Amino acid sequence: MSEYEFITYETVDDGTIARIMLNRPQARNAQNRGMLVELNEAFLRAEADDQVRVVILRAAGEIFSSGHDMGSKQYLAEWRPGPEQHASRKVNGGTRYASESLMLQEWHYFFQNTLRWRNLRKITIAEVQGSVFAAGLMLMWSCDLIVGAENAVFADVVGTRLGMMGVEYFAHPWEFGPRKTKELLLTGDSIDVHEAYALGMVSKVFPVDQLEAQTLEFARRIASVPTAAALMIKEAVNQTTDTMGFTNALNSCFTLHQLNHSHWAWKSKGERAVALPEDGVVDWRQAPPIVPAQKSTVRAESD
Ligand code: ZN
Repeated sequence: MSEYEFITYETVDDGTIARIMLNRPQARNAQNRGMLVELNEAFLRAEADDQVRVVILRAAGEIFSSGHDMGSKQYLAEWRPGPEQHASRKVNGGTRYASESLMLQEWHYFFQNTLRWRNLRKITIAEVQGSVFAAGLMLMWSCDLIVGAENAVFADVVGTRLGMMGVEYFAHPWEFGPRKTKELLLTGDSIDVHEAYALGMVSKVFPVDQLEAQTLEFARRIASVPTAAALMIKEAVNQTTDTMGFTNALNSCFTLHQLNHSHWAWKSKGERAVALPEDGVVDWRQAPPIVPAQKSTVRAESD
């Protein structure tokens, strides 16, 4: 398990089930570049291994993922020129300038990798607990099936905190539905695992202390399906949603995402590619807690 720094990889059940685990719990499993590159290697490793039938994507600690790492020392060291700069910052647009650079880097490491995992030639299951925020949703949505612990909550706060239209992999309308997507992005509010189940986004809800064991049992059922049938079922559904426009819609929304970054970069004279508090968003470092989207608003006693 030691060949990776930010994740772990193991196989169980005679190698038929691969388990990839985000392993940065001290940083709320925020996704730094090193983690994303390792995650891609791990998914491709599971895809190449003919013994593997099902891949479980899980996370160490109390929460699945708080989103992209936007400020840790690790992130800054990986990003900036220097001895610890990540190798991926010197290729795939990393040495270009301005919007071209950001667009290329996000295309490779945020957008296309997520799409690649969505199209993996194996059945994938996301096993989530606690917070699944912003880019945490992308990781989870790339999987064929999602199972959640009782305490799982889902939100994309990039609209209210960063002035962005959503994360790079804009699957929100396909997962939440169009109106719920608008509500959740315009408010930054969350939905819980039971609402996610009602929406059809989550397949199973397990007690927190049974999440790992129950997910493995669920994965065993899927692994018992003949691999040819499993792949055809996955591909039939993915090709159906592609015929409905899924991949094309995500491509065009990725372009909007880049326009959104360019707007803020222009506004801040190249300082930052996201909104600042002076632009009318809350400071994400001091932002109030994310609250559940309520069905109705209770009027104050004094009204
Ligand atoms: Zn972005």
